[in-house]
Amino acid sequence: MMIYPLFPEGRDRALTFSYDDALDADVRLAGIFSSHGLKCTFNFCSDDGPHDGTFPSFDVNEVYLNHGHEIAVHGSEHAFEDRMPAEAVIADVLENRRKLESITHAPVKGMAYPYGTFTPELKQRLRDLGILYSRTVNSTHQFNMPSDFLEWNPTAHHRENIAEIGERFLNNSELRAPGTVCYIWGHSFEFDRTDGWDVIERFADQMAGKDCVWYATNMEIYDYNQAFRSLRFTADCCYVQNPSGRTVWIKRGREAFEIPSGDVVRIG
Ligand SMILES: [Zn+2]
Repeated sequence: MMIYPLFPEGRDRALTFSYDDALDADVRLAGIFSSHGLKCTFNFCSDDGPHDGTFPSFDVNEVYLNHGHEIAVHGSEHAFEDRMPAEAVIADVLENRRKLESITHAPVKGMAYPYGTFTPELKQRLRDLGILYSRTVNSTHQFNMPSDFLEWNPTAHHRENIAEIGERFLNNSELRAPGTVCYIWGHSFEFDRTDGWDVIERFADQMAGKDCVWYATNMEIYDYNQAFRSLRFTADCCYVQNPSGRTVWIKRGREAFEIPSGDVVRIG
């Protein structure tokens, strides 16, 4: 019997974005996402200074948080953390978290690797520092939920023909199983400098307002996936218990089921 995750409201795929460094072009980018109902995670540092170690000059609440976007760690100083001693990594991540959390007044536990570099040792260190997921820069051109969230490989950078990727994501039969994720990343200043805003404006138009798509931040996808993975099935898969604190949707065969928090539901 095939049982697969669905996303909230029974949607069968999710779209998320991740943009780094929080230069001023983020204001325009966040505006495009917000006006299309799309959700993005914005990763940035907490040191003042020239690009790559910059704290945003605009109001983080107004641009990101009030529209449901997420902010996440990018290293306090945009350092190659994979090459630094433990003490320096600890300071770099915790200082970044403290600065971002002074804005959110809530835990900030997502991250994008500065320069995309990491090692197994760095991943373990981040786990100890409370980081739950971290994005790489290695495109998969696939729509997989990551098996290791501290090595969350995106689908594509926005320069990699995202119109075609979006088409495949929305329409294709390659989505054999529900529970797939399209994950686009980049830097907003690239639209100003080289890529043109058309790329992302067209993609936003292409992806917006689809009943089958859940528009979510990186952490919302992480959290939902945790809840799905916590479901307990009877051996015959006729009943499922949801011990998590949120409603989870699943598909058994062709039928969709809503499993409220704390309930046991008959599904077969
Ligand atoms: Zn960066």
